Amino acid sequence: NVDSAMYHAKAAGRNNYQFFDRSMSANASERLALQTSLHQAIAQQQFVLHYQPQIETGSGRLVGVEVLVRWQHPERGLVPPNKFIPIAEESDLIIRLGEWILQEACRQLSLWHAGGLELRVAVNLSARQLRSKNLLRQVKDVVLKHNLQPGQLELEITESVAMEDADNTLRMLAQLRELGVELAIDDFGTGYSSLSHLKLMPLHRLKIDRSFVKDIETDPDDAAICAATISLAHNLGLSVVAEGVETEAQFAFLGNLGCECAQGFLFSKPLPAAELEAWIRARGQMPQSSPPVMP
Ligand code: C2E
Ligand code: MG
Ligand code: MG
Ligand code: MG
Repeated sequence: NVDSAMYHAKAAGRNNYQFFDRSMSANASERLALQTSLHQAIAQQQFVLHYQPQIETGSGRLVGVEVLVRWQHPERGLVPPNKFIPIAEESDLIIRLGEWILQEACRQLSLWHAGGLELRVAVNLSARQLRSKNLLRQVKDVVLKHNLQPGQLELEITESVAMEDADNTLRMLAQLRELGVELAIDDFGTGYSSLSHLKLMPLHRLKIDRSFVKDIETDPDDAAICAATISLAHNLGLSVVAEGVETEAQFAFLGNLGCECAQGFLFSKPLPAAELEAWIRARGQMPQSSPPVMP
């Protein structure tokens, strides 16, 4: 409360206590603590990658996975990305973390391919990574190091990040595309897309944000938005992935609209690599000829 904050400010000998706000100060020191422990976490490799299946609507087959990072914190347990990615994005921490994520995802992808499992792996990029001079070299190196066909790696950029600085994004995406990696726009419909920019971007996929999928069967507006997005994507030569598919009815609805792929709790939550392999085996989609591949 304000009185006690002022009291503390005065007690601390400050004259400008009108600027002293306890909650702000708590946030600032918590952020600082988080930044410090993020630095340690990178050094101590406390991050883990989970993988969420992407299912083809026509065949029901697994065609890809999205990589979602978690922080295995020694005291706090498994910390979700929304709690630390924004902090990491405030500095070049995200560049180091992003590089580790890219490396680890590609290492896993090459193990799966060695085991005969044909998959596409999609990795999320942050705004700062996209603006970083190192990104092209990082992607080129990691593809070479793990002997990947670059088309097996997909990079996701949110619509708002892509449009924030569209000229720059366009240049970067063109260079990434030259390396052969595939490109997707994430959370489509939640930002402000300029269609003239969208048209110029060398994309493969749009991902419909889960907020439009949630009530797709009952809300005609959401159904209309999904239908329009799918038709826009197809007319631009792009494929569509729907996020946040939780029910069979949503899956069927999206399939009927021509959406190629779906991702969501209906199939699986994001899983550690070994659990994903067990999930694939249980569906009978693990190649029989090869031994199980463990990380
Ligand atoms: P996103 O890329 O849009 O990822 C989808 C999020 O939706 C994931 O949350 C996933 O767990 C969640 N989700 C998947 N299926 C369902 C469903 O059926 N229902 C509901 N309600 N949710 C579902 P998560 O893992 O907490 O990640 C949140 C966001 O954090 C991601 O959103 C992405 O923007 C960011 N993020 C995650 N991993 C990374 C990363 O490696 N790098 C960067 N830069 N950002 C990341
Ligand atoms: Mg994503
Ligand atoms: Mg998304
Ligand atoms: Mg989303």
